Amino acid sequence: MEADAPRLVETAGDLRAWSAAARCGGRRVGLVPTMGALHAGHVSLVRRALAECGATAVSIFVNPLQFAPGEDFARYPRQLHADLAILRREGVDVAYVPSVEAMYPPGATTRVQVAELDEVLEGACRPGHFEGVATVVLKLFDAARPDRAYFGQKDAQQAVVVTRLARDLDTGVEVVVCPTVREPDGLALSSRNAYLRGDERRAALCLFRALGAANERFLAGERSPTALRGAMHTVLAAEPAARVDYAEVVDERTFRGPGTLAVLAVHIGATRLIDNHRLGEPLQVSLPPEGEGRVGGDTREGHPT
Ligand code: AMP
Repeated sequence: MEADAPRLVETAGDLRAWSAAARCGGRRVGLVPTMGALHAGHVSLVRRALAECGATAVSIFVNPLQFAPGEDFARYPRQLHADLAILRREGVDVAYVPSVEAMYPPGATTRVQVAELDEVLEGACRPGHFEGVATVVLKLFDAARPDRAYFGQKDAQQAVVVTRLARDLDTGVEVVVCPTVREPDGLALSSRNAYLRGDERRAALCLFRALGAANERFLAGERSPTALRGAMHTVLAAEPAARVDYAEVVDERTFRGPGTLAVLAVHIGATRLIDNHRLGEPLQVSLPPEGEGRVGGDTREGHPT
């Protein structure tokens, strides 16, 4: 870790120079792409990167390309000061924080498409979303030239899109997918949980309960996709605040049926949440690692003490 870590880097050229120097020094380079508003889920990725790589960069960039018109780009939480304090506490070497103009100068019209995966579930509900993700991830890979890049299973379809992109385009980047970190009651940590108001926080638990219902049926021997899907929909239908985009059981590589990955996207009021679980595996609450401050049930990261 450098003394004034994390070093704030704002251009691809500067990040590339840092990465080249690290690699020259024999250090493995790790990259953790994020949109900021860091929470313990992000921190679990950062700690894995720090454990495996001698030089770690975390990117913070709210990527306009992956938001459709009418989605939450404008109101997405931005808290760079608090994020940098977390990265400092964790000992991250570099925070890569490019501006939108630096990432997409006027006239930048090139897009990356990961075909087929972008047609189903998240891809179908959010047209253009994975094109935006793939484009920014390729640019981040090219700027950071990482040996390894860390993503969360929380965004299961995104993790597969990125893994496929890394392989198809010969990036040489090893994509590492890390387990979902949950609140003690099971809600998957997400920057968007900050949108939940009043009773919505309780209502949001229906995602975890739906996954649990499908998992119980699976563990009891049920294999019918219709029955497993039905178990999720029964739970979700009982929650008046929930509006379901999809709740399906699919193959974890293709995101089409049949398979054993339960995936769902549900609106709770104005907040759209996603979650998933590999049926048959224990659906446990995976608490943040030791040292994560929790104040009054608020699990968003605070300033280090
Ligand atoms: P985001 O800032 O939401 O784009 O997320 C950045 C990375 O953190 C992505 O690879 C996410 O999958 C991952 N991530 C987000 N929430 C969690 C979580 N609860 N547990 C593990 N990883 C997560």
